[in-house]
Amino acid sequence: MKIICIGRNYAEHAKELNNEVPEAPVLFMKPKSALQLPEKPFYYPDFTTDLHYECEVVVKMQKNGRAISEKFAPRYYKEISVGLDFTARDLQTQQKKKGLPWEIAKAFDGSAVVGKFIELPNIEELNSLDFHLDINGNTVQKGNTQDMIYNVNQIIAYASRFFTLNMGDLIFTGTPAGVGPVAANDHLEGYLKGEKLFDVTVR
Ligand code: MG
Repeated sequence: MKIICIGRNYAEHAKELNNEVPEAPVLFMKPKSALQLPEKPFYYPDFTTDLHYECEVVVKMQKNGRAISEKFAPRYYKEISVGLDFTARDLQTQQKKKGLPWEIAKAFDGSAVVGKFIELPNIEELNSLDFHLDINGNTVQKGNTQDMIYNVNQIIAYASRFFTLNMGDLIFTGTPAGVGPVAANDHLEGYLKGEKLFDVTVR
């Protein structure tokens, strides 16, 4: 399986990192080894001193497909969750400055936290879903999927022009404003529609 991530998909977040609002989806990938399994502890990586959380809605592909049209994209998923696109912001800033790829900042082991998947009651609802992240009991990030620049169907249509999407692949749909650093012992809890779907403590 692969993990496809969309960057700068919320205008307010693009602005907070001084990025332009993109003309096409900004796409990058994480390997399977980036998956943070719920039973395993998450250790603060030794190659960064500025690890950031990015809470995002995650969609799971339920069928294989390539060149999927936006119209038919809803047939390819039915389960969603929330996750964290952990980012070594210091490394990412350094890579961006040099015009180099982001993988070391974005695709490292444990960088993809994924919550428990829930079934979408209906597709329309996907475009107005509240989600949020609490750290140590305080809400630090709040989003609604209606603020996405590219919606899930547009992301699937775009990504599947380049990559065959397979059953089980995950799509991280971008983070809203409010990203920030985490520290050892922080307790991160992700919610979708008020339901807690992940719970991670940084060691
Ligand atoms: Mg992200």
